[in-house]
Amino acid sequence: MKRRVSERYTILITRTGREPRVVSFRPLALLLAGLLSLIWVGIGSYAYYKASFLDDTEQELQLLAAQARDLALELAAERSRNENLAGKAVEILEELDVLEAEINRLRERAGLPKMEPAPEESEAANNDGQGGGGRLLSAEDLYALTTERLKALRADLNAKVEPALKETLAKEAARPVGIPLKVKTYIVSGYGTRRNPFGPGYEFHDGLDFPAWYGTPIYATAPGRVVEAGWSNILGRYVKIDHGYGYSTVYGHMSKILVKRGDKVERGGLIGKVGSTGRSSGPHVHYSVFIWGRAVNPVPYLEPPSYANR
Ligand SMILES: [Zn+2]
Repeated sequence: MKRRVSERYTILITRTGREPRVVSFRPLALLLAGLLSLIWVGIGSYAYYKASFLDDTEQELQLLAAQARDLALELAAERSRNENLAGKAVEILEELDVLEAEINRLRERAGLPKMEPAPEESEAANNDGQGGGGRLLSAEDLYALTTERLKALRADLNAKVEPALKETLAKEAARPVGIPLKVKTYIVSGYGTRRNPFGPGYEFHDGLDFPAWYGTPIYATAPGRVVEAGWSNILGRYVKIDHGYGYSTVYGHMSKILVKRGDKVERGGLIGKVGSTGRSSGPHVHYSVFIWGRAVNPVPYLEPPSYANR
């Protein structure tokens, strides 16, 4: 035991031309020095490791943050794109509603039934009202919906509304309007059964009688073609005009006829002059309106049709 304690380790350092140096240690000191240097190296490498780990983590965090920022930007851009698209789609849908209302007005005018509302739209409207349970439309859905509706409206407009409207407008253009005179007058004898002014009993008067001075110009109440221009024992000198679409008009008791059979006349065109020819007791124009050959009461035809004021 004693021998071991006195044991020492010696390091001899020799230098050229000088005394060698001797360093001696006790083993414990050597052990301590070894331990200390081990600890020192351990701490150093741990610190180095820790520092490089933190560095890596820092870099990783920065990368992640950058990615997150990119994602957030992308998301914001996407959202604004969607919002823009949705906003545009809503705008277009509103315009489509206006367009559809306009087309429905035209359809009504053309004598066609109103369009059925688009099923998606009524569904969406229901969803609006009830809130929960409804399917939310994405911007793409809205876009597809508007495109679909626009296509349907255009197809309807081209295939049905336009031809029907043209027909309606042509029919309206052929419709007799107003009285055949441009002077102040009144209805001296109306349409319907009346007492026979020339004898006993009753007769059917198939038109209206408008008194006016002898020679007052008589005008056509609608455009058309003269189909009769001549003499009848009852109407005297008379003119019959075919306006198309089933409409025709007759003007009687003229003193002078200013058109001939086959002539084309305009609305308001001069066709003759007031007289008292035929079965008449004074200067007046007898005016009849026929639809498909049947006399109708001309009174509704004295005013422009109600839709003209709409
Ligand atoms: Zn008459």
